[in-house]
Amino acid sequence: MTLDDQKDLAPCGVFCGACYAHLRKRKPCGGCRGRAEEKAAACRKCRIAECARERKVIYCGECGAFPCPPLRALDRNYRRRYGLSPLDTGVLAGERGARFVLEMERRRWTCPDCGGVICLHDRTCSLCGYHLPAEEE
Ligand SMILES: [Zn+2]
Repeated sequence: MTLDDQKDLAPCGVFCGACYAHLRKRKPCGGCRGRAEEKAAACRKCRIAECARERKVIYCGECGAFPCPPLRALDRNYRRRYGLSPLDTGVLAGERGARFVLEMERRRWTCPDCGGVICLHDRTCSLCGYHLPAEEE
């Protein structure tokens, strides 16, 4: 796996490639693995990313402490607010490999109308405004 394959997927399992901060026009965020000065404030001080660096794991799923309380808290937040589970994504990355997960995420967040990227936070296409309906639980 190359660094380029990894860089769209944060250690916690959030797909940076479809994040609102990555899709914004002004000062787009380079992603969790990008340069600190480009990152959204919340991501710059993320304890999970820092922990992954300290423990030298690429994905939290590789860690002996997985799933740790901070990761479970993030997952609860994402499930409640966005109907997404970074934790499940991380488990899948461990089982099927990060490349599989990245392909899946890229397909999932590609706009069926224009091929643009759909933001995972507001489920709206960054190019044409298409709205992706919420998935059933
Ligand atoms: Zn679109």
